[in-house]
Amino acid sequence: MLHCVQCGKTFDESSLLWRCPCGGVLDWTVPEPFKRSSIRTEETGMWRYAASLPLDSPDSRVSTGEGGTPLIPGDWNGLSVFWKLDFLCPTGSYKDRGIACLVNRLRELGVRELIEDSSGNAGSSMAAYCALAGIGCKIYVPGYTSEGKCVQILSYGGELVRIPGTREDTSRAAEKAASETYYASHNWSPYFAHGVKTFAFEVWEQLGFQLPDAVLLPAGQGSLVLGWAQAFEELRASGEIDRLPRIYALQPENCAPLALAFEKRTDAPEPFPKKETIAEGISSAEPVRGVQVLSAVRRSGGAVRAFSERAIWDGFNKLALKGLYVEPTSAIVGAALDELRNAGELREGERLVALLSGSGLKATDKILSLIGNPPA
Ligand SMILES: [Zn+2]
Repeated sequence: MLHCVQCGKTFDESSLLWRCPCGGVLDWTVPEPFKRSSIRTEETGMWRYAASLPLDSPDSRVSTGEGGTPLIPGDWNGLSVFWKLDFLCPTGSYKDRGIACLVNRLRELGVRELIEDSSGNAGSSMAAYCALAGIGCKIYVPGYTSEGKCVQILSYGGELVRIPGTREDTSRAAEKAASETYYASHNWSPYFAHGVKTFAFEVWEQLGFQLPDAVLLPAGQGSLVLGWAQAFEELRASGEIDRLPRIYALQPENCAPLALAFEKRTDAPEPFPKKETIAEGISSAEPVRGVQVLSAVRRSGGAVRAFSERAIWDGFNKLALKGLYVEPTSAIVGAALDELRNAGELREGERLVALLSGSGLKATDKILSLIGNPPA
């Protein structure tokens, strides 16, 4: 069953609505919260957690081996950090988990053509899985998107549409075009976050079914936050755990509608006059599930925080010196580890998890220009 987060109306599982007629976001209602005995131990990657996914027949899925990424222990200036290397997913970003779930569901529902809009990574992933599923796809991206991501979309056979202006202009153009084709926006989709949540189940299993104290997640639309929260709230509902790890949702100061709302203690994202940021993957001024993201962070006892361009770039360089070559968007976790430690929000002796969301190889052009002209 699908339900509207805003008005509570319910819809049949086979519905192809991408949002409620009232304008609210739709969620898939989990029939049974996930538990340890639901793990399909014969499977690899995210399909170990297939019992938690909105799919009728996960065994007949299309897949490129998404999930199953390493969790490696490390040290960050005295902090004990487990790096979750989700940039090693097949298309180079964690988005593969959510898109694999979304595209397989749309394939079950008989969708043959779709439109997606993306800052780049979700579009690359969508083009890849649509190619596998035999679904035609048109991907709308902002004009500033890294070349690596655009070339990837084209290589997978996606039709690339570059829209001048902001990420929000891109969404509006895609919504308009979608009056004729199915709009598979991963941010609006009721299925995407359920694929994403598998990274959290995976972390839990990789830690020997122990809980971390806190997790650090880059946040634009906030799908990592929603996926993480969904997973751990399911585990709590099934009696596997009795507390929630603190979620730190990380935004660039240049585009921080959620951090501002958190600071002002409001329930919905604040209007934000955004500026350009090197963290292009989390440059979302109007997160469509912002209310849910803020609520999830608050329930966990964590926070939404914002970081300067300079701090994000420093984070990139420090991560690279640890052999972790990620895109500048992901480097915001480096900025956060430094600043939240100094602020006393993260402490030595705590068990921290930091998600690295996208590969640096996709952003070569952007990284090269930043080396020549770093943020002040
Ligand atoms: Zn509604």
